[in-house]
Order: sequence, then C-alpha cells, then structure tokens
Amino acid sequence: NVRVRFAPSPTGALHIGGVRTALYNYLFAKKYNGTMVLRIEDTDQARFVPGAEEYIRESLEWIGIIADESPFAGGEYGPYRQSERKEIYAQYAQRLIDEGNAYYAFDTPEDLEAMRERLKAARVDTPQYNAITRTQMKNSLTLSEGEVKERLNSGEPYVIRLKVPRKEEVRLNDMVRGWVMVHSSAIDDKVLMKSDGMPTYHLANVVDDHLMKITHVIRGEEWLPSAPLHVLLYQFLGWESSMPQFAHLPLLLKPDGNGKLSKRDGDKHGFPVFPIEGKFPGKDGRPEVFNGFREEGYLPDALINFLAFLGWNPGTDQEIFSLEELIEAFSIERIGKSGAKFDIEKAKWYNQQYIKVKSGQELSTYLQKQLETHNISCAQEKLERICEAMRERVVFPVDFWKDGQFFFVKPENYDEDVVRKKWTEEAVSVLEAYRKAILEADVLSAEDAKSILNNILDKKGVKLGQVMQAVRLAITGKGAGPDLMEIIEILGKEEVADRITKAIG
Ligand code: GLU
Repeated sequence: NVRVRFAPSPTGALHIGGVRTALYNYLFAKKYNGTMVLRIEDTDQARFVPGAEEYIRESLEWIGIIADESPFAGGEYGPYRQSERKEIYAQYAQRLIDEGNAYYAFDTPEDLEAMRERLKAARVDTPQYNAITRTQMKNSLTLSEGEVKERLNSGEPYVIRLKVPRKEEVRLNDMVRGWVMVHSSAIDDKVLMKSDGMPTYHLANVVDDHLMKITHVIRGEEWLPSAPLHVLLYQFLGWESSMPQFAHLPLLLKPDGNGKLSKRDGDKHGFPVFPIEGKFPGKDGRPEVFNGFREEGYLPDALINFLAFLGWNPGTDQEIFSLEELIEAFSIERIGKSGAKFDIEKAKWYNQQYIKVKSGQELSTYLQKQLETHNISCAQEKLERICEAMRERVVFPVDFWKDGQFFFVKPENYDEDVVRKKWTEEAVSVLEAYRKAILEADVLSAEDAKSILNNILDKKGVKLGQVMQAVRLAITGKGAGPDLMEIIEILGKEEVADRITKAIG
C-alpha cells in the first residue's frame, strides 16, 4: 500500500519547485491507488510565517492536488501539523538518549563560536560538531553523570544531539540517483531537539514518516545531503526494515541553466515562480509581493502538464497529457538526474494548447468577465463565436479582451506600420467598392464576404495580397488577427460599413 507525503514548511510562499514535488507525489500515489499525506512541518518557530499555511493550501487547491490526509482533511495518522506533535518527538529523543545514540549538549553560542574559530585556525574547511570535536565540548559524553543531572535540574538550556558513529559507511539506494554512500565522519552530530523543546526537521521528519507509514519519500534534491543522516536515525530507532524508499528530484534551474531557479530570476524576466500571488517577507524581512501563475492567467491543467515535464518525461513524443494520462504514464524510473531548465516559453505554449481546445462556451466566461468591467454587454451566442474565432491565437484568458476588443469598440487608432506600408490608393478604392457591395447584400456570411471581395478584386485586377492588410486595418485597426471574413460576419454588414467609412474618411 503506497503512502507518500508532501511536507512543506510554512516559511513563506511555496516555490513552484515545491508544487512540482507535490505533483510527483500525487501522481505516484494515484498511480498505485495509494494515499497522499500533506504534513505541515512547522517546528522551526524562527522561520514560521503567518499566512504561509493558508497559501500552501490555496495553491494546492487551485492546481487540484488534494491530499487524502492533511490538517484540513484529517486522517488516521494525525495530527498533521508538527507543532501539534511535540510530545511524540520528545519521546523518541529520550529513547535515543537512553540507548546511547544521542546525548545532551550544554554548549553556549559562544562555546560553539569558539570551537568554529579553533577549527578554522587549524584549517578545517567545514567545522563540525562531530565524533572528534564533541570530546572537547560541554555534553553528556564529557561531563560526569552527576554534573549532567545537575545542569538538567537547574534548568540550564540544552539541546539533544545525534551521536553519529565515528567510522561507518552510510548507504542508501535512491530511486533516482542510485547508490549514495557517505562516510559517517562527514556527518555532523546534528541537533535533534532544540533548546526550546522543539524537534529539528531531521528528527520530526523521520519520526513522522515512520508513524505515518510512509513508503516512498519523494522530495527535492536539496534534501539528498540529509538522507544519510535520516538513514542513521532509522537504524537507531530500529525502523530500518520499514524505512521508506527515497527519490530525490532534480533541481529546477534558471532559464539559462546556470544555477538554481530563484525568485529573482522571475522578477528579472517578468515571469512567476510561485503558484499564486502572495505577500510575504522577502530576504531582508520586508514584505514583498510574490507573483503567481494563477494571476498571470495560467490554467491549472496546463501548469500541471508543464511541471510534470520538469524532470520527468514519458519516453515518447507525446507532450500533452491530461491528469489521468499523467497518472497512467508516470514512473519514478523516468525521472532524470540532471537539473531541469525552467523555460517559461514552454509554459506559455502549454497554456495555449489548453486554451485552444476549449469550447466557445467555456471560453466565453473569460471574455464575459472583461466585458463586465468595461460595461459592455453582448449576446452569449456572439460571445462564443468571437472566442471560437480567436482561440487559436490566444495564450492567456485576458488576451480575448486585449486582442479582441475591436469586436466591441470601433478602432480608435490604426497600426501605424500597416498604414505606412499598405494604405494605398488602390486599397482605398477597393474599400469604397466593398462598403457599397456589402450593404447591398441580403445577408453577409463569411463566405459571402469573401466572394464579394473577390469579385471586386477581379474587376479591378488587384491581387488579394495587395490590399488584404488594409482591409483588415480598416475593420479592426490591426495588421493581424483571426480570420477576417469570420470577423466581418460576426460584426455584421452595418458595422463593417461604418468602420470602413470611418477609416477612409
Ligand atoms: N519540510 C521540508 C521542506 O520544507 C520537507 C523536506 C522533506 O520532504 O523531507 O521541504
């Protein structure tokens, strides 16, 4: 029975990479009829940001990734907020101490600083609190039993550290990266319980994954360095035989492939790297606005399709996948090891693909909203026809208004470039004749509009290509757009004639 979890920390806006992690967990769970857990890892009080949990919830809801068990949905293995599980962690920390796999440490911040200075002076690159240095520090391994008791009783602040074995090979078989081996001398005696009585990420994460019966840990590559430490914890707690399998996902890279994708890349190039808009403290602590894909007009299905391909591929040429198809096709074996470049043009392309297959009726709701803000009313049938005429060329829902407002208001100005190049005497004379002819027609379908124009061109011996852009310009104000004959039919002959009059003056 597959059980996976997405375990974000509510420290600010959820990065789009986090959404991808959630998606991969979701796809994997659904594929095997398993269960997805959403666990809020909020034990780091210094980094806790109010509103971040709601942001995570809203983001996942918007994109349609709903966990089976969560603080919101409940479940058998709750509570699902780590801050509500404090007592549980204390129990396991105690067990590690009792069995000699963890120890109390009473070092003050100054003690730790002095240790780092000492090591730096001795040219140690990465000063660590480990099997060697702990012998010189104030902890229950160096102090007498009586002294430790006394310090604990007197309420002196302490942390609990993991006693990492001195010489041991720690290994794990990652589903994406294969065998990962780390020598224990490279691992710190990580703090498991902080002086405020809260567990650190490492302890809480391992304890919860075990108690919540997680079978697969699918998470970002930035957690790979922590994995050996987690393996040690599973060993010490006697849970090795039921240890979850790990799959560490490749990083999301900047568009040029140079380094990790950051908020600054998004700001610089004007694209979002967060699912929905939010306002959170930035790097310097001052409130900052985080732009969202939702507000930019990305459709959840399109974004999911885009994210699925950031680090995974189906091994075929197929690029468009519905959620059901993704669930069917997804496999951890096809997740790549190398970082995935974040290509916003591809995201736009996906959006376009998803918009263009929608019905006029679905699309009309986008346009309707825009029309309301501009106090324009329009019959539903016409609205749908306009959307159908436009849908091949649209990237975002607002484009229906941006590029299609000429359907509702006569052009006020005309594309200068086209005026300069294409507004010829010949074009004006064709337009004059065209106006007259369409007003004489009984009805004016797109077909009629076309044959009437062709007749005039034949008579005058003018080629369509010579005047087409000018005709479009007169009617829409622009040099390009949806099928012009379709536009003429939608606008109706009176309106078209009016516009021609206005254009030729
Ligand atoms: N709380 C960690 C995070 O914010 C979870 C990492 C993990 O999945 O183990 O990403």
